[in-house]
Amino acid sequence: MNKNPNEGLKRSLAERKREILREIQDKFRDVRAEAEWKETSEELGTGGIFEADTQQDIEFALIQMKAETLDQINQALSRLDEGTYGYCLECGEEIPKRRLRALPFAIRCKDCEEALEVAEERVRDRLLMVGSHVER
Ligand SMILES: [Zn+2]
Repeated sequence: MNKNPNEGLKRSLAERKREILREIQDKFRDVRAEAEWKETSEELGTGGIFEADTQQDIEFALIQMKAETLDQINQALSRLDEGTYGYCLECGEEIPKRRLRALPFAIRCKDCEEALEVAEERVRDRLLMVGSHVER
């Protein structure tokens, strides 16, 4: 009996969620270890501090990316419960099955996702501009 076709999807999303949570925890542990290492190297006056900073920035960016994916999975899961899964959050259009197969936690159609990315980039550019303006 297969009365709920979303059951498998829900399970794989929950699985993915656990995976990402674990990855985030691991990353946090790495970053903390690196921060400690950095402190030690500063005390010892050894180099490599710039590298450590860059590496940490990358780690934090990765954590942020994972946290965003986690957020999407959570939204996809609650949309599964609501019965609105598979419809774009922005325009309400049905998200193509092909996209959902590739990105089971997609909550927007491709067009809206891209529009959002462009908008976010613009905000980021703005903030950078404001930031450099203040510095001057
Ligand atoms: Zn859309």
